[in-house]
Amino acid sequence: MGRANMEQNAMTTFCRVCHSRIRFDAHPDLFDIVTCPECDEAFEVVGLSPIQLDWPSDFGDDDK
Ligand SMILES: [Zn+2]
Repeated sequence: MGRANMEQNAMTTFCRVCHSRIRFDAHPDLFDIVTCPECDEAFEVVGLSPIQLDWPSDFGDDDK
């Protein structure tokens, strides 16, 4: 059996601090916390297609 051609939908995104590529072993859920392997910064998943990261909402508590 051949491999499915799903590689173009790779689960990767880029760190907002150091711009390193961050790979996901499994598809993340919204608001999952991921940590950059390069700079150790923690991010929250705010978008899934494409995967987008933002700082956890604890940091910017000026919503209201
Ligand atoms: Zn980083």
